[in-house]
Amino acid sequence: MTTAQTLTEYAYLLSIVLFIIGLKRLSHPESARKGNLIAASGMGLAILATLFTPIEGSAGNYLWIAGGMVLGSLIGLTAARRVKMTKMPEMVSLFNGLGGACALLIAVVEFNNFAQAGGTGVDVGAVVVTLFTLFVGGISFTGSLVAYGKLDGFFRDSIKLPAPVVWNVALLLIIIALSIYMLTAGSISTPYILALLGLSLVYGFTFVTPIGGGDMPVVISLLNSFTGLGASLAGLIYGNQVMIVGGIVVGASGTILTVLMCQAMNRSLLNVIIGGFGGGGAASGGSTREQVVKEATTGDLAIQLKYAQKVYIVPGYGLAVAQAQHVSHELGKVLEENDVQVRYAIHPVAGRMPGHMNVLLAEADVPYENLVELEDANKDFPNADVVMVIGANDVVNPAAKEDPSSPIYGMPILDVEKAKAVVVMKRGMSAGYAGIQNQLFFGEKTRMLFGDAKKSLQSLVKEVEEA
Ligand code: NDP
Repeated sequence: MTTAQTLTEYAYLLSIVLFIIGLKRLSHPESARKGNLIAASGMGLAILATLFTPIEGSAGNYLWIAGGMVLGSLIGLTAARRVKMTKMPEMVSLFNGLGGACALLIAVVEFNNFAQAGGTGVDVGAVVVTLFTLFVGGISFTGSLVAYGKLDGFFRDSIKLPAPVVWNVALLLIIIALSIYMLTAGSISTPYILALLGLSLVYGFTFVTPIGGGDMPVVISLLNSFTGLGASLAGLIYGNQVMIVGGIVVGASGTILTVLMCQAMNRSLLNVIIGGFGGGGAASGGSTREQVVKEATTGDLAIQLKYAQKVYIVPGYGLAVAQAQHVSHELGKVLEENDVQVRYAIHPVAGRMPGHMNVLLAEADVPYENLVELEDANKDFPNADVVMVIGANDVVNPAAKEDPSSPIYGMPILDVEKAKAVVVMKRGMSAGYAGIQNQLFFGEKTRMLFGDAKKSLQSLVKEVEEA
């Protein structure tokens, strides 16, 4: 091993250590920002080490590499700066798809090398790994694009394939048969590679299309683990340790997140994949007769809050849309000055991405110890004088407990009706992400405060200060 190669190996080892430290720090909102930077510097170091590794015949490629890096960095930087918090899941999905596309392209280049060698002297193990990389990269790429489209709303849940399970099984069997034929006949030629490439891309499409829009976060997490697997397989192709370990870290954390999200919704992964939940179509849980809601005014609510001992805030997607996290914290501070204890009840799938509410509230400097997880909040709600549901809907919908025909049946929810009073702040009576009505709004203890969450909270802060 030359000195340059030894240095590269050390640099890779350091990168791997940085990835792991970074990931560990991502597990807590307070250290997550630093964790992200540490992992990113590990990636930067790995890229630099790779660039300085002398590879025969690669000297002429530096211009291409530099061009690609500058273009990619510019697009990444602009997208990250411009993206709105509410559009973050879409961006994650898109970037994940690009990771899958990278693995796919690496596999295509390798297959091209095998084909040029005429299929002779090619290691069977290498072909198997490349086949996997192609397949996994393909699913990740088109699957993530469909997930992006569903989250963005331009790919509707109504776009449905007839008998999707039959399609998926048939495609999988064709892909397996073609791969076995290539391996046994030693026939690696361009038409077969193109056919496998096309089939893998179509499979990604048919795999994600039948899954309901509400389940996209789970799907993105699953596809993310596929991309990690693709990257580690690509690392095997090149014998590159940092790609192998980096890919495994992404694959394993994506898998753990997928399992945790399924647990948070009390559903199996199979149910997510074939369940068709969410997307705004269904109307179950609706009222069977004309029901009326009781409205609140900011004046009444201000007095109720000021004389409360304990207040819970339940943030939801609408809080993110209204960008009301700062004013919500301001209200919390004003109440605390009046000796009111304020806590935030966090549902694991509130908003539109895992940890969405934690990120929003951290941005507004809400102390982390004031955030209460679902189970603890449910135990503590009977002690609360008022629960303010701000822009949340599905995560407080009792249909999840009471209506077996509801698409969210079985999902753990925040039992806000256990508190002495509930105030729901939203603009109107529109449904949430699952597209279903919410009986909580008609409940005995519930008052509705209609209007944009930010504007309502601004008036409320004023009223509490003046009350
Ligand atoms: P929901 O989507 O159920 O409800 C949000 C509510 O916010 C709407 O009913 C809307 O009503 C209201 N709203 C919108 N804009 C404003 C505004 N400016 N001011 C006040 N209110 C507003 O949100 P939840 O957080 O309760 O639930 C999340 C849902 O999203 C779950 O079904 C979950 O499965 C799904 N999901 C979760 C993801 C995650 O990882 N966290 C990712 C993708 C989906 P109105 O228009 O009447 O104001």
